Amino acid sequence: MTTGMVGSFQFMKSLNKSLILNEIRTEGPISRAEIAKKTNLTPPTVTNLVNELLESKLVLESDLGTSTGGRKPIMLCLNSSTFRVIGVDVGVDNLKLVSTNINAEVMDTLLVKMPNSLSAETFMNLLIKSIHGMFAELKNDTLLGIGVGMHGLVDPQKGVAQYAPNLNLRNIPIRERLEEEFQIPVEIENDVRAMALGESWFGNGQGIDNFICINVGMGVGAGIILNHKLFTGSSFTAGEIGHTTIDVEGPKCSCGNYGCLQALVAGPAITARAQKEIRLGRKSLIEEFVHRDLGQITGEIVHQAALKGDQLAIEVLGDAGRYLGIGIANMINTLNPARIILGGGVSKAGEFLLAPMKEMVKKRALNSTPISTTNLGEYGTAIGAVTLVLKKIFLPEYS
Ligand SMILES: [Zn+2]
Repeated sequence: MTTGMVGSFQFMKSLNKSLILNEIRTEGPISRAEIAKKTNLTPPTVTNLVNELLESKLVLESDLGTSTGGRKPIMLCLNSSTFRVIGVDVGVDNLKLVSTNINAEVMDTLLVKMPNSLSAETFMNLLIKSIHGMFAELKNDTLLGIGVGMHGLVDPQKGVAQYAPNLNLRNIPIRERLEEEFQIPVEIENDVRAMALGESWFGNGQGIDNFICINVGMGVGAGIILNHKLFTGSSFTAGEIGHTTIDVEGPKCSCGNYGCLQALVAGPAITARAQKEIRLGRKSLIEEFVHRDLGQITGEIVHQAALKGDQLAIEVLGDAGRYLGIGIANMINTLNPARIILGGGVSKAGEFLLAPMKEMVKKRALNSTPISTTNLGEYGTAIGAVTLVLKKIFLPEYS
């Protein structure tokens, strides 16, 4: 494995070069003449910058294109085999790592369990060790950068995880520590925002100018894409829909308020509701599934019981779906997106939750808006983290 582009993407210092590279990424194989036409750059400028890209090996000359008369033009395409990017999804229970090629195609994955409680130092050591664990597979490929999608509040400019509520950690200078260790550019973003960016480039959000990616798992968050760009807000808290109020009389949330969306629909809210009803005397298969140890109830177990026709399970998932529908309708009415993309555990909860959710959205949203689930799979956030790095290379003016 080679690095050698320490600290910043020096080799992409020209915006025009990025523009050409992105044209080759999205339109390739493409000729120099077509690039000049599409970018409005002069042919000599295109030739010079393409030469630099060929030298850096990011671009290759491929087979000949079809001619419209004279000599057949030489076509250019991305060199997808020599370069790698590592993406990390820092969740609550585990770290999910991927290494991908420059098209974000996953070449290798690694899942690392995280201990229940850990200090910032232990966390950083585990993160560094896990990334080192990916290096063996890189062989002679050049690593372009490392992206990290981290739950909680993240300042992507400073590269700091400001607050990770589920790990109870604050102000971890992740970028600084990783760049020091690996001598390579590092990007960090909130996990759901990274996921939305990944959807925008490689998933169900491709080609859609405005959409919202909503993740419902241990927490609830949204990544908002406006005019093809990730919207972060003025101090990087845009999309924290988990703490919008849905029911002022609702259950207490981890943030201290009552009736937040998260306190009604996230995984822990679903299990807490099932536990409460059973303690109050409701009969349910859920109780049998966990051998009366109510602490063992998970969202997955509630789903299993619903599949067997258990009334309590169906009711709990249905209510969560209806509350989620209210939250989504609020987002639709606020931002008028062209699509909603759902990720996280809830996207696996099936029709018991999704059908009542869609019905509620239909009732309360002013626009009929398609709702789909992510197609990037369980490594969607890690692929989003890779995209943070790719964005710096291909579209630095958006960064
Ligand atoms: Zn809250």
